Amino acid sequence: MSRPIAAIINQKALQNNLSIVRQMIGSARLWAVVKANAYGHGIKKTWQSLHQADGFALLSIDEALLLREGGWKKPILLLEGFFHPDDITILDQYNLTTIVHSPWQIQALERAKLRAPLDVYLKMNCGMNRLGFQPDDIYSTWQKLKAIENVGTLTLMTHFAEAGYKQGVTEPMKKISQASQGLNCQMSLANSAAILRHPQTHLDWVRPGIILYGASPDGHQKMILGSGLEPVMTLASEIIAIQTIPLGSKIGYHNSYRANCEQRIGIIACGYADGYPRHAPSGTPVRVLEKITKTIGTVSMDMMAIDLTTCPQASIGSKVELWGKNVKIDDVATASKTVGYELMCALSPRVPVKLE
Ligand SMILES: *Cc1c(COP(=O)(O)O)cnc(C)c1O
Repeated sequence: MSRPIAAIINQKALQNNLSIVRQMIGSARLWAVVKANAYGHGIKKTWQSLHQADGFALLSIDEALLLREGGWKKPILLLEGFFHPDDITILDQYNLTTIVHSPWQIQALERAKLRAPLDVYLKMNCGMNRLGFQPDDIYSTWQKLKAIENVGTLTLMTHFAEAGYKQGVTEPMKKISQASQGLNCQMSLANSAAILRHPQTHLDWVRPGIILYGASPDGHQKMILGSGLEPVMTLASEIIAIQTIPLGSKIGYHNSYRANCEQRIGIIACGYADGYPRHAPSGTPVRVLEKITKTIGTVSMDMMAIDLTTCPQASIGSKVELWGKNVKIDDVATASKTVGYELMCALSPRVPVKLE
């Protein structure tokens, strides 16, 4: 028997989440963001559940080729564009849409010898200050790209830094409308947070990531409560040992926990080498036999302990949900002072991924 841990991917939940997002965006088209191995869910196994998307957005050419080789014929968007002028040949060969965020990429496009023009997303920097052209340079850059034979359709895009906040897109939207004056262009602005909170950003193409996987953009379940979005990944394991420890006992490394009465505890086959956060404190929710209980002590590389006081029936082999349908990944993330994104993406390659 293999070690009893798995990430179970609910394909119906993925399909459901995609259709919920569709209802939110009206007639806008939708890039399903599947970067970082589909946020840790496994791009190879999951992309077909998202085949109703209008396109896939990701970062690495390897992931793009995986989709093409799997038979995906519709658009694929490279969210960081190409990394080297030589990459353009592959973009041409596989018909990949590229973001252009820097002047060197425009030069490279000008010089490339292509079979057909490439569709280009011109990236504007609206305040994130990572990638993109300043608003004042958008008009001239757009005209420059338009004049290049190798450039097919052009779309203006930007990425919000604070779309989770009520006023988070106000300033960026001003910049966008100024920068795009006179261009009459297609636009792609909204990530998950903007899709949820700012319908005025939906426009032509939206780019949802985290909400497709059923978690919240701001790390708090509250933001998606009542939306109908369902968790896609369940991280499941089992109890592999049980201890009854006397009052005053400590558990695991560094003595971070001390029992204040005799206590029955379960040891779970899951640790930080599986992707569970080491900084999850004692008290982080976990579920065993339909009861929510809590973690205790410091998470080890391969194991962790949970309190069984409220689950007297729990025994060796009892199923444990670390996160999923019942224990929201957002709640584990909040306890661990991070966001669901990080937990999903950190799922370790040693954890088998199973579809349901
Ligand atoms: C990752 C990413 C997204 C998706 O973000 P979510 O918050 O997961 O919806 C959208 N656009 C760009 C440019 C991205 O890099």
